[in-house]
Amino acid sequence: MKEVRLRFAPSPTGYLHIGGLRTALYNYLYAKHNKGKFILRIEDTDQTRFVEGAIENLIDSLHWAGIKYDEGVFVEDGKIVEKGEYGPYIQSKRLDIYKKYVDELIEKGHAYYCFCSKERLDAVREEQKIKGLIPKYDGLCRNISLEEARERISKGEEYVVRLKLPPNYDIKFHDLVRGDIVINTNDIDDQVLLKSDGFPTYHLAVVVDDHLMEISHIVRGEEWLPSTPKHVYLYEAFGWEKPIYVHLPTVLNKDRKKLSKRHGDVSVEDFRDKGYLPEALVNYLALVGWSPEDNQEIFTMDELIEKFSFERVSKTGGIFDKDKLNWVNGHYIRNSSVQRITDLAIPYLKEAGLIDDKFAEERYSWLELLVKTVQESLDTVAQIPEKVDFIFKENIDIVEEDALEVLKGEQVPAVLRAIKEELKNVEVLDEEYAKGLMKLVQKATGVKGKNLFMPARVALTGSTHGPEFVNILVLLGKENIIKRIEHVEEKYL
Ligand code: GLU
Repeated sequence: MKEVRLRFAPSPTGYLHIGGLRTALYNYLYAKHNKGKFILRIEDTDQTRFVEGAIENLIDSLHWAGIKYDEGVFVEDGKIVEKGEYGPYIQSKRLDIYKKYVDELIEKGHAYYCFCSKERLDAVREEQKIKGLIPKYDGLCRNISLEEARERISKGEEYVVRLKLPPNYDIKFHDLVRGDIVINTNDIDDQVLLKSDGFPTYHLAVVVDDHLMEISHIVRGEEWLPSTPKHVYLYEAFGWEKPIYVHLPTVLNKDRKKLSKRHGDVSVEDFRDKGYLPEALVNYLALVGWSPEDNQEIFTMDELIEKFSFERVSKTGGIFDKDKLNWVNGHYIRNSSVQRITDLAIPYLKEAGLIDDKFAEERYSWLELLVKTVQESLDTVAQIPEKVDFIFKENIDIVEEDALEVLKGEQVPAVLRAIKEELKNVEVLDEEYAKGLMKLVQKATGVKGKNLFMPARVALTGSTHGPEFVNILVLLGKENIIKRIEHVEEKYL
């Protein structure tokens, strides 16, 4: 049996779109499920869209997401390198190859030189629009003889090379998600294959490369579906075996519109910066357009590899639901080690101005306790500063209605006073002591239960609810607790 070989073939536009990550993921999952190869090829034939650093950024995003490939373009020691036996894997390094295949098509009569100027093409299109026709190249240069064309080229005339589609011919192919597809050539343009700058168009390069790299399955977004008949025709013109096609449903937002930069976060980097864990993003994305046989929602990468199939990819757009993503991310945060989340949290705490480098180094275990205290309640790591902000405050101002209500209780002054008194007996407030503190206060005041705990919580946090109280005591420490109580006594009692 032929080896299963899949490729992800992004254009380096500057960032990896979340939909692109899902395409890469599905390619990866299928390749691994079938013990095949996964390849990263860079499609950079559109020189007008060149973006500095884009390849590195793309590779970095795939790496972060844990999507590994076997062949193609890698970054090592800050340098772009290529690995594999089918290279080069960067299209701009393959210009000679494309030239050779364009010549072959011309020789066989499947392509022709076209000398039409941009002005002429615009005028033709304008006229067709006025007549209510679908804009299409009118074929003026189709019948120029090869001799005449070569003559004109030798005199320096600018040209492109176009695919010569036969009239009224049905191009047929099968898509694993969409079934059989038939398109008549009367409805397709004579696609430009080679541009006047000598670069191939995507359409030529993709077919030549997929063939030469022995790609068995082409898995890409459905926005490429209209191009596929042209590609299929090229395979036929070259006499090559066609790959298997799979077009994936677009990733949509809740309004069923394509996820675009205008509507917020779309790049993998955006999600990393917002505090999503890679395994959570990957887990969630796998479910946008694919569903398992049962209703399992949490998957490791290995489980995804085991369960993934194209049979269960839907035809209709997959909705990207941020709430669901948050839920999945929260799950992974809760199941991560405190140390991992602490390391991830430190940059956010610094950015919020709550800590600096020195603090992070000297008080790492305090930070671990801080993170552990709120870890259960997080959707994203980026939420940490807002959740722990109250610990860093000088004083707590009480604004919540029910918190102010609690402070009206007649037992409150005695409880708060007793806490301060008890604290006089300790040097350092450690977890052991914190656990017993409220028992001691209970003994001293005779107050217990809610009447005992609520005033203490409100005085120290400003709220009637929140994380584990013992942790809050330890995090604040003796001095801060006393200060906070005095502030409340002065201002609210
Ligand atoms: N270069 C195309 C892109 O940027 C690849 C499409 C394909 O996979 O054929 O998405």
